[in-house]
Amino acid sequence: MAIKQQFLQWATAATLVASTATQGAWAEDAHSYAKLDEVSTPHLELDLTIDFDNKQLVGTATYDLVRHGDADTLHLDTRDLTIEKTELWVDNAWQETAYQLGDTHETLGQELTISIGDSAEKVRIHYATAPTASGLQWLTPEQTAGKEHPFMFSQSQPIHSRSWIPIQDTPALRLTYNATLHTEPGLLAVMSANNSLSDERSGEYQLSMPQPISPYLIAIAAGDLEVKSISDNVAVFAESYIIDDAVWEWADTPAMITATEAMYGPYRWDRYDLLVLPPSFPYGGMENPRLSFITPTVVSGDRTLINLIAHELAHSWSGNLVTNASWRDLWINEGFTSYVENRIMEALFGERRARMELALGYQDLLEDMQRLAPQDTVLNIELGTRHPDDVFSNVPYVKGQLFLVYLEEKFGRETFDAFLRQYFDDFAFQSISTKQFKEYLARNLLAKHANVVSMDKINEWIHQPGLPADAPKPESDAFAQVEKQMQRWLKGGQLQTADWTTHEWLHFINSLPLDISSVNMERLDKEYGLTASQNAEIAHAWLRLSIVKNYEPARDRLRNYLLTIGRNKLVSPLYRELARTSDNLKWAREVYQQAKPGYHPLTQTVNEALLYPDND
Ligand SMILES: [Zn+2]
Repeated sequence: MAIKQQFLQWATAATLVASTATQGAWAEDAHSYAKLDEVSTPHLELDLTIDFDNKQLVGTATYDLVRHGDADTLHLDTRDLTIEKTELWVDNAWQETAYQLGDTHETLGQELTISIGDSAEKVRIHYATAPTASGLQWLTPEQTAGKEHPFMFSQSQPIHSRSWIPIQDTPALRLTYNATLHTEPGLLAVMSANNSLSDERSGEYQLSMPQPISPYLIAIAAGDLEVKSISDNVAVFAESYIIDDAVWEWADTPAMITATEAMYGPYRWDRYDLLVLPPSFPYGGMENPRLSFITPTVVSGDRTLINLIAHELAHSWSGNLVTNASWRDLWINEGFTSYVENRIMEALFGERRARMELALGYQDLLEDMQRLAPQDTVLNIELGTRHPDDVFSNVPYVKGQLFLVYLEEKFGRETFDAFLRQYFDDFAFQSISTKQFKEYLARNLLAKHANVVSMDKINEWIHQPGLPADAPKPESDAFAQVEKQMQRWLKGGQLQTADWTTHEWLHFINSLPLDISSVNMERLDKEYGLTASQNAEIAHAWLRLSIVKNYEPARDRLRNYLLTIGRNKLVSPLYRELARTSDNLKWAREVYQQAKPGYHPLTQTVNEALLYPDND
């Protein structure tokens, strides 16, 4: 998700929806027109043609209907969809029914209201997406690595499913789906479903997701994909240029699954496959169930960025299995996942490495907290109808993680692990709100261990801005050593970097004094080839510093970096830094205009707000 700060007016019209997943408990989701308390849609059948020429998905979405009263209307979310007609399945035949598209809301899109009478079991919507659909990116053959075939992919979280499927687009809903996809022969289409490992490329694919998931986890991609297995239940889908490198990079994935199962119970999704997206993929990864979508920028050739895979895998428990009921509860997905990710890293690679990653995350959090309005540093954030993309930050991730680290330290690891494992069992395949979590925590942890942590303290963590005074402050011995070395180096000494990983390099570069001399910049670059680093994270940190220092020898690399990578976390801080001086801003705008056609719509939105703030 994107990092961007923008304050829209607060909305008043929050819709009350019933969470089907939680036995009639009420959840509030201001980001959906769905009325789950009236009608819910527990199963979807998709039949879609992937039309690369017109950059459109065209076809039908068919839903099973479950009425929770005498409602005769279905309310769906859409954005920029063209609705051709709507039909009902009545007396074993399809018959057309009336529908209405509401006014366009900048954040929510358009409400689609369909008359469903009192007996129809199914509704079918014939529709087409817009070439500018916010949840899809269409790449021309020239924008792919292979240069011969086009590529398309979805990014539905948080509220972009509605731009390619008319749907009750709230994470409170859970549904299963089947899909029939039609595309050009020779291309492979995949989804967050039971993808086949067959090498047949007929252009016709049948897919199924039998476990109930939330709408934002429906995902699609198509391109010139190959597939290679890492183990019996883990495979990589990718363009041929990178598939062998990715299989090597992620060889530890099966061991990660085993380690996570030992801590938090069974992996419940059958296969766990990984899809390498083109460099324009706007995020590091997206935890689409059974098939995580991953940026190629973590295929670094040294296996040091595999915590991203640990993160997406962890979502198979926290997020996909137990899901936030609304986007105000995002920390329930991301805080738990960041915590589980770090536990996986510790189990596989030891405490030292896990500690470094936690400390790096903590630094990122402190940086974000400085730029965020205090109310946006609250875990159970007040969003109104602001777009969740607009307030995306490290808060739900790292503050949420620190909250769980705090509980672990207070109750002891053994007790807290048992609590978490039971939590994943008790809420498996359900969507829960912050309120439900608090009630569960009070009953199953606080009450069983009296006087360890008070409910007031829990409320401070969840509802107050900033960090509690007694919050963990993660530090790393390894980083303390890096800082010592840096002091010696600044006085002319040599660095001992032979056993440094990406983490140590990041900490080193990020800790360099901003008044570092240009002689020292050149000295570093000459000895360690930082401008030329093929590790996307190290290059990012160095290029960011090079902007601050106006270090000219890195300019060409910076341009090339911005032109070839579209992962927003890596490009956005660079544009933000460039926007600080008028000369750099002018240069950045030129580069941006050249890079824009290759950027995802989300990356475009976020960075245009940085480079063209007056247009907002
Ligand atoms: Zn995540």
